[in-house]
Amino acid sequence: MNSGITSIKLVLLGEAAVGKSSIVLRFVSNDFTENKEPTIGAAFLTQRVNIGEQTVKFEIWDTAGQERFASLAPMYYRNAQAALVVYDITKPQSFIKARHWVKELHEQASKGIIIALVGNKVDIVSSGGERKVAREEAEKLAEEEGLLFFETSAKTGENVNEVFLGIGEKIPLGR
Ligand code: GDP
Repeated sequence: MNSGITSIKLVLLGEAAVGKSSIVLRFVSNDFTENKEPTIGAAFLTQRVNIGEQTVKFEIWDTAGQERFASLAPMYYRNAQAALVVYDITKPQSFIKARHWVKELHEQASKGIIIALVGNKVDIVSSGGERKVAREEAEKLAEEEGLLFFETSAKTGENVNEVFLGIGEKIPLGR
């Protein structure tokens, strides 16, 4: 078996305020903040994790969700091996946007890109808030489009590491 470091370029896409930066902050620093400043343009962070004998270095591009930055997204996803398409399970519009990102990635990104569909903010439902995107609807999209699928909370940390480990396990390691 090969050992060493494998780098994975990963991009986050999704409507503004669904929690993209918060998911990255949780993964990289195991931290959360209620009043995050919006990302302008894009932010770059790295994080290493061990998957079996391998060290995987995630090179993470967190893009701004605002429409005025949407035309920049191809710059980030064009060379990416993996993408997280994030929506907020309490915001139906953000799921519609997620469908558009999946379509765009399949049309424009590299053929082998691994895409994870991520429904964030499950803690709101756990604490009595109303879910507006059914889990089954998202699972159906994931199945039809060949996506990994997770529901997460950047706030509690639920399932956040699993998203990245799931992607790491899908990428051929030891290159
Ligand atoms: P981005 O624009 O997609 O990067 O979203 P942010 O990470 O900036 O988050 C937008 C807002 O949602 C912030 O106020 C966060 O604190 C909040 N937020 C992010 N993730 C969660 C979550 O899992 N649960 C809850 N309740 N709030 C979240």
